[in-house]
Amino acid sequence: MKFDLHCHSHFSDGALTPTELIALAVERGVTHLALTDHDTLAGLPELRAASEQSAVQIINGVELSCEWRHQLLHVLGLNVDPDNDLLRAGIRRNTEQRFARAEAMYREFERQDINLRAEVAAQLPPDSVPTRPHFAQALVNLGVVKNKNKAFKKFLVRGKPGFVPMVWPDIAEVSEWIQAAGGVAVLAHPLRYKFTRSKLVRLIKDMLAVGIEGMEVSTGNTDTQQCEMLAILAQRHGLLASMGSDFHTPNQPWAALGTAAPLAQSLTPVWSRF
Ligand code: AMP
Ligand code: MN
Ligand code: MN
Ligand code: MN
Repeated sequence: MKFDLHCHSHFSDGALTPTELIALAVERGVTHLALTDHDTLAGLPELRAASEQSAVQIINGVELSCEWRHQLLHVLGLNVDPDNDLLRAGIRRNTEQRFARAEAMYREFERQDINLRAEVAAQLPPDSVPTRPHFAQALVNLGVVKNKNKAFKKFLVRGKPGFVPMVWPDIAEVSEWIQAAGGVAVLAHPLRYKFTRSKLVRLIKDMLAVGIEGMEVSTGNTDTQQCEMLAILAQRHGLLASMGSDFHTPNQPWAALGTAAPLAQSLTPVWSRF
C-alpha cells in the first residue's frame, strides 16, 4: 500500500485534472489517494469517476485555510462526507473569501497599471477557486516577472503591493466542519509555518483541544530528521500521523506524487480511522 493524502488539481492551484491525477497515481504505484484542493470539493466527482477505472482507492479530502492566533494555517479534512451541509457551508464561506480577495487583488494591481483579470480567468476552469499561484502565473504570462517565485517575492507576500490580507475562520470552526462531515482533521505541513518547537507544541495542544486529531509527519519535502522530529511530537501528544506529497505540478520534483516517505511503524496512521 502506498498512501498520498495531500495533493492538488486544477480546481485549485494544481496543474492536472483529477483524471490526470489518477493516471499519475497509477504510474507512481499510489494505492490510496486523497485530493485536497484548497477550499473546494469540486474535483471530487471527477476523481471518483476516474478512480473507478483503476485500482486506486479514493479518500475524500480538502485543505482548508484557517487561522490560529492570527496566523494562517492549513488544515486537511480527510475522509469527509462531501454532502455534509455544515462542511459545504463552511467551504462556501472560504470560497467566497477567495473570490472577494481576487477582486481586491485585481484592484490593487490595476492601481499599478497591471490588469490581471483575463490572465487569471483564463486559468480557472468552471467551479475552481482563485489562488495566489494563479496571480503569480498571470504576472509571468504578462512578462511582469520572470517566474512565479519572483512574482511571490515581489508582489504576493505580506508587505508587498499585491498582497491582500484575508480573515480566515478559526481552527476551531474548520475542525467543527470536518468533524460534522465525519472526517479527520489533520494539520498540514507543520514545518511550513516556521514556528519554534515550543510554539508548535502550543499549537498541537490548542489543536487537540478543538478536535484536530492528526498531523502530517511525512510530506514531500521533509527530510529524515524532520520526519523523526515530527514523529516524536505526534507520538508524545497522541496525534494520528498522516503522509502526503502536497503535489501541485509535475515540474516541482521536491513534491512529486507518491514520494512522501513511509510512516514509522510506531505511529498510528490517520487511515486507521477511515
Ligand atoms: P493562497 O491559498 O491562494 O493564498 O495560495 C497559497 C498557495 O500558494 C500555497 O498553497 C502554495 O501552493 C503557494 N505558495 C505560497 N507561497 C509561495 C511562494 N513563496 N512561492 C510559490 N508558491 C507559493
Ligand atoms: Mn497550494
Ligand atoms: Mn498548504
Ligand atoms: Mn496543499
